[in-house]
Amino acid sequence: MEYGPSIEDSDAVRDWLRGRSPFGHFIGGKFTRSGTTFTTRDPSTGEVLAEVTQGGDQDVAEAVRAARKAQNKWSGLSGTERARYLYAIARHIQKRERFLSVLETLDNGKPIRESRDIDIPLAARHFYHHAGWAELRDSEFPGHAPLGVCGQIIPWNFPLLMLAWKIAPALAAGNTVVLKPAEYTPLTALAFAEICQEVGLPAGVVNIVTGDGATGAALVQAELDKIAFTGSTEVGRAIADSLAGTGRKLTLELGGKSPFVVMDDADLDAAVEGVVDSIWFNQGQVCCAGSRILVAEAVAERFEALLRARMERLRIGQPLDKSTDIGAIVDPVQKDRILSICTEAIGAGAELIGGQQGEGCFIAPGYLRNIAPANPGMQQEIFGPIATLSTFRTADEAVELANNTRYGLAGSVWSESATVATDIAARIKAGVIWINCANMFDASAPFGGYRESGFGREGGRAGMLDYLSEPKVKSARDPAPR
Ligand code: NAD
Repeated sequence: MEYGPSIEDSDAVRDWLRGRSPFGHFIGGKFTRSGTTFTTRDPSTGEVLAEVTQGGDQDVAEAVRAARKAQNKWSGLSGTERARYLYAIARHIQKRERFLSVLETLDNGKPIRESRDIDIPLAARHFYHHAGWAELRDSEFPGHAPLGVCGQIIPWNFPLLMLAWKIAPALAAGNTVVLKPAEYTPLTALAFAEICQEVGLPAGVVNIVTGDGATGAALVQAELDKIAFTGSTEVGRAIADSLAGTGRKLTLELGGKSPFVVMDDADLDAAVEGVVDSIWFNQGQVCCAGSRILVAEAVAERFEALLRARMERLRIGQPLDKSTDIGAIVDPVQKDRILSICTEAIGAGAELIGGQQGEGCFIAPGYLRNIAPANPGMQQEIFGPIATLSTFRTADEAVELANNTRYGLAGSVWSESATVATDIAARIKAGVIWINCANMFDASAPFGGYRESGFGREGGRAGMLDYLSEPKVKSARDPAPR
């Protein structure tokens, strides 16, 4: 028997879509009637998957009202009761793993191996982990209270996983939420709404309003206690500006241009495999992708030969095929964006190896070499399967190049010496540093950036604190406990 979902499973998903499209929003525990809709497509073929409602101010206001109405009761449940719902959600995600993997791959274009082995299991893990925090909230965070109603806006690169990163801690802390998925990939959020119904989550605790940037902007302006945003630095900056002076809590998870540092004593085969996991995973549409490869001059020639040979063996193709390594870019607009940054980089003197554009939304993996630090390809987030490759001579130069960016999300260091690796890691200004690995995530490990990569943390204890108020300070006149 073959392991995991395959192309055949897509029939069940298509039946599910046909039975529900056009989708309404999920507000107060029910799906609303659909309104003006937009189309979501399979980027690998252009096939229409479903019609989804474009949310307006009214929908957002209704969802916020439903969340407000549910909040006191939800936060008043005991930790164990809230945990039970989060465990049930996690379990239901696991039970529908095949279905959700295929739905995610159809809507996003990512290889099925990735949605099956990474996106969906990690989403389930996030709910399991935060079920624990729901139980521990009062003992671990005495004096803290939930914030209230949280507006959450997520991108399209890991649709269900980003939903889990937002909803699980918010609910564990006792908040209720209104979440807006990205317009390219709304479908797993709508399937998640059905899971909320199946587990009997109280109405209004989770609300999902679909739509584009205008819907997101309406959510930002609504009567909320917190906005949690993951997406581009440009939109994050606009949100921060529009909330200035309102006193509302805000966390931003934004872009990155993370360094991938290969020292001269690194295991080069392992480092090349690390590049595959780092920049060619999810077609490079990963905020913490190791998109700037910096390699010690002494081993650069050998490393590049290995890298090129490995890159040429990656299989580009139909995302539902289990042997595919590189699937489709999420949308033609994003594909054009990637290509235009590459053109700019080449115009400024860089040489592109690989990176050929295919039919439709496909781009072959590639890298830019002979690239100057000021080249736009080196400074801008390409958000596609194209890395940059440059060399350094000394450890100090490696650190200087690694930090030569306006971002500060992640980085990875490759060396067989723990001393060298930890020394370099400590000097890179980023929220997450991996040593001899890349793109490793766990629900217990906080994730987040510095500088233009945003602020706030998701995951673990630090992530919980971002969904809780400051503790009440006890006054000297408070009666002593008896
Ligand atoms: P985007 O900023 O265009 O969109 C993200 C979300 O914001 C979408 O749901 C979109 O509809 C919404 N949105 C757009 N305009 C808005 C506005 N004016 N007000 C409120 N909401 C608005 O980004 P994208 O193209 O969807 O995602 C790619 C970017 O996200 C990349 O830059 C990437 O690095 C970043 N990203 C960061 C992380 C992280 O954890 N740091 C994770 C994933 C993606």
